This record gives sequence, C-alpha cells and structure tokens, in this order.
Amino acid sequence: MKDIQYNTIVAAVRDMCIRGCTLADPRVVDALAAGRGNEASELAATILKQIEENAQIAGRTGLPLCQDTGLAVFFVALGGDVRIVGGELIDAINQGVADGYRDGYLRKSVVTDPVRRTNTGDNTPAIVHVRPAPGDQLHIRYAAKGGGSENMSRIAMLKPADGIEGVKDFVVDTVSRAGGNPCPPLVVGVGIGGDFEQCAVMSKEAIFRPLGDPSSDEFYAGVEAELLERINSLGVGPMGLGGSTTALAVHILTAPCHIASLPVAVNLNCHSSRHEEVRL
Ligand code: SF4
Repeated sequence: MKDIQYNTIVAAVRDMCIRGCTLADPRVVDALAAGRGNEASELAATILKQIEENAQIAGRTGLPLCQDTGLAVFFVALGGDVRIVGGELIDAINQGVADGYRDGYLRKSVVTDPVRRTNTGDNTPAIVHVRPAPGDQLHIRYAAKGGGSENMSRIAMLKPADGIEGVKDFVVDTVSRAGGNPCPPLVVGVGIGGDFEQCAVMSKEAIFRPLGDPSSDEFYAGVEAELLERINSLGVGPMGLGGSTTALAVHILTAPCHIASLPVAVNLNCHSSRHEEVRL
C-alpha cells in the first residue's frame, strides 16, 4: 500500500493547471506548422503562424494560451494499492484547481448555477472522472476545456442500420455546422457505443490521447484517417476563415453497446488543446 498525502495531490494539480494553460503541447505546435506548410490559402497560413507565435509568447511569458482557461476536466486512475492521507481525493483536486487558477492568474470560468450564473470565484468545481485501477499509482490527467469548442459538441442516438457511414456523416456534419465557432484547427474527439452518457464521456476522453497517436484498433485508425481527410476538405480552415487545416486529428474511442443502439458523440477541442498529466 502506498500513502499519498493530500497536499501532494493539491500541489501536483495546481502545477498541472498552470503548465497546461500556459505551455503549448509540442505535438500541437508541430501539427500547426505542418498544416501551415500544406495550406494553399495565404490567409490560412498567416492565421496558423499567428497561433504558433501566440504559443511561443505564452511559453516565454507565462501568460495563458487563451483568455478562456476553461473548465478543469480530470480523468483519474486510482490504484487499488493507493491510500490518500489527510483528506479526500476530490477535495484535493478542487483545492489544486483553486490554487492553480489563482496563482497562475487564470480566468475563473465556472458559475454556481447554470441559470442564475454567479461565478464561483475559483474555477471549481472541476469535472472529475475517477476509475479504479490496479497497482500503486495515482494517474491524474487534466484538460482545460474552453467553452467555445465545448458548445459545438453533439451527441446522436443513431440506429444500428446507420452503421459506420452514419457515424462518419454525423462527425463531419458536426464539424461543418460548427464552422469557426470552436476555434479550429480542432482535435475531434469521437465516442462510439456505450450508452448515452458513456458515449459522451468517451468523446471527451478521446481528446486526451496524445496528438498523432492513432487508435490501437486498425479499423478505427482507418476511420480516423478518413474522417480527418473529409473534415479538412470542408474548407472551414483556421478560425473558420477558409483553408485546408480544419482539424489536426480525429481520435475515436469505442465501447460495447445495446443491440438496438448506435450512440455517437463528438467533443470538439480547439487549437488551444491543453492537457497535462502526472503520476504519483
Ligand atoms: S474555443 Fe479554445 S481557443 Fe477558442 S476561446 Fe475557447 S479556449 Fe480559446
């Protein structure tokens, strides 16, 4: 059994929030540069260059990559041989978020109630998904999820007869309808299967996969590649102003589902694709 102190988790989460909101993912920066190299549109290439420069400035100054520093979303694998000492896991994560968003001067983007809308003042509560895991590690993955891209995400309960072509059409239609609103180029997270809520969670978890790593399932890796090509043929382009770099990647996660169902969810992530992880 391994003991992990409450304050160790708080400090790790605090640091992840600050790093995640200010340091661009090198894989995203490389993908932006590759997209720029392929752009026929001068405007699209200029916008991609500006996004790359923005990332450099954020890294140099410690300023956030974007003014919307997002809802803090966590996927946590809690080892069965881990004991948290001095407090509760969820409290430690929320305390780390509050500390990180305060110390990093990150925008507080959470309201207490969806209708009455008073800011909670510290960017909590976070959205936390905890799963049991074997071993003695606490693996915490964090993403700062911007509202603009989240708002353009969709879910559909397709019929099994719609098949993979129905799934592909729904994903492409979601990106097409979104246009410039989710701040492309995008990382497109897709959940297929499960039930209504599991499908949505999978689409969110899919955006946590390291950019450029294909699905481990050859069939779905092929679907990802085909979808990326179709999406980049839409002409939406960087920030919706035209071009061939609408998405940097499509990531698919799947799960078994009911014989009568074919759920599909699409979670869009903007070019400010911010995530960090730590193992304690
Ligand atoms: S969608 Fe992303 S890039 Fe656009 S404002 Fe929100 S966080 Fe920033």
